[in-house]
Amino acid sequence: MIIREAVDKKIMNKIVYAKNRAVELLKKHGIEISNAEIILDENLQKIADAIINENIPKIRINPNKIAEFDSYDIVFIILHELFHELLLTEVDEIDIDDFDHKIYNKATDLEINQIIAKMIGTDKLSNRLISYVIWPNYYGLPFNKRWHFYYKELKKKGY
Ligand SMILES: [Zn+2]
Repeated sequence: MIIREAVDKKIMNKIVYAKNRAVELLKKHGIEISNAEIILDENLQKIADAIINENIPKIRINPNKIAEFDSYDIVFIILHELFHELLLTEVDEIDIDDFDHKIYNKATDLEINQIIAKMIGTDKLSNRLISYVIWPNYYGLPFNKRWHFYYKELKKKGY
């Protein structure tokens, strides 16, 4: 039990450090959010997710899945989840009748990952992280487009 707690404490410190860097980076880019709350959840299916309620972000993280990533990778993962909440709510940019949530998630991931890679600097990210997240070239698509572009293209290509 004591060992488990020590491990959790070490991971928690790593995550809190990354969270503070993430909030700082957002501030530098003109996005002010309140200090985020971190919740460790071993039962979470994904590595992380986030919700923002009244400007207060709550970030859930699976400590077992995050342990293998470097410090800047964790900043990336936290920012990724926050960006889903912060920036990309313009669902009306696409044809709602034909809305495909899986493609929407992929398309927003493509835009978000590029924004964050620029914010952090690709050279600071591990190869593990870079191969873990998705990029436009995996789908034969160009970089530097908005998510609605990717949505339409992914749909056309049948992803
Ligand atoms: Zn995502």
